[in-house]
Amino acid sequence: MKLAPLLLTNIGQLLTLRSVQTGPRRGPSLVDLDIIQNAAVLCLAGKIVSVGTVKEALRDPWLKKHRKKVTEIDCGGHVVLPGFVDSHTHPVFMQPRLVDFEKRIAGADYEAIAEAGGGIRSSLAGVREASRLPLTQKVLSVLRELARHGTTTVEAKSGYGLSLESELKSLEAIRAAASQWQGTVIPTFLGAHVVPPEYSGRSQSYVEIVCKEMLPAVAKRKLAKFVDVFCDRGAFSEIECSTIFGAALEHGFAVRAHLGQLSSPKAGFIEATLECCRPTSFDHMDYVRDHEVTALAKSDTVVTFVPGANYFLGLAKYPPARKYIDADVAVALATDYNPGTSPTVSMPMAMSLACTHMKMFPAEVISSATINGAWALGVADRKGSVEAGKDADLAIFDVRDYREIPYWFGVNRCVQTIIGGVALRSSA
Ligand SMILES: [Zn+2]
Repeated sequence: MKLAPLLLTNIGQLLTLRSVQTGPRRGPSLVDLDIIQNAAVLCLAGKIVSVGTVKEALRDPWLKKHRKKVTEIDCGGHVVLPGFVDSHTHPVFMQPRLVDFEKRIAGADYEAIAEAGGGIRSSLAGVREASRLPLTQKVLSVLRELARHGTTTVEAKSGYGLSLESELKSLEAIRAAASQWQGTVIPTFLGAHVVPPEYSGRSQSYVEIVCKEMLPAVAKRKLAKFVDVFCDRGAFSEIECSTIFGAALEHGFAVRAHLGQLSSPKAGFIEATLECCRPTSFDHMDYVRDHEVTALAKSDTVVTFVPGANYFLGLAKYPPARKYIDADVAVALATDYNPGTSPTVSMPMAMSLACTHMKMFPAEVISSATINGAWALGVADRKGSVEAGKDADLAIFDVRDYREIPYWFGVNRCVQTIIGGVALRSSA
């Protein structure tokens, strides 16, 4: 099917986030959104071909000649930005975790709930019993909901199966859902989410299954780009994480980790891992030491904040974003969509939390949710900014000033999402 050319015009503020440097944005460059007022964007065959003011667009000789063939969207003075890149989600599960929700209200903390059989382990039965089709439908409905909130690229993890069969099934559900969705899905294998109950007290044996059975099977079927490990108290140790990373790299995967959510990693682990494994991202990172921040600033590893989890767990402590940003660490922002600790598809909500609880500026959260999210997934060559040659993934927000995106929390101001040069829906 041939795509009609698409022209977005009458854009009040176009946040282009065009490249200012190579590599992810750091420090002061996070606030440089490169905004064009009264702008237009022309998309052809799913790609952005020109970006500028409406005046410039109207002078474009190609556009003058082909105007009749072009589908035009009048953005009504609204704000347009690159579609969000949500670089951390867990969409493969069947049921919400309402018992945990109420237990937490009654005073139990994350670890107490996990020890009582709740938490990640309580999602296992649903995934293990489900066939691939309902899992696929679940994932697809999440992807569609994400798109309605302005997200066009999504990292999706397995991790609620925790057996060879159900991890493969989860990744196949991600692949099947991705093939039915217009946006881009980056799959991640998270077999090392927690130790499943049948390996209780024998985490070493489970790590061996992950390395010797699961990783080769996932690699053979090309079901994931990344391997992720939840490395923290109550999950996997630093040594286990290093073992899994070693095996993952041997199989050609890139690596990322859930780190520093509940406790500080062992001294030296971050520096050694940056050196040996070049992880694309460390996520959460609520707990960090000064020398680790210095090491991270010298690396290309992105630190991905997921404040939705802190919010939903009712924590007073949030990741020390200013410390990272002021030290020039590359930072990104994601929803951490999952049934236990962050059941939200809303990047604007994550952005709002980062502003109010982590003292990030609106411009910083926008860079973190777009171009730096793309760096956190290794797709910055085609995603995360509005510039010629990139995929035509855009979001239109019913606001006049970009700062309103994180300001109006708890409502969805995204009125249209464009993926690959096609408008998904239109509403007032
Ligand atoms: Zn997570």
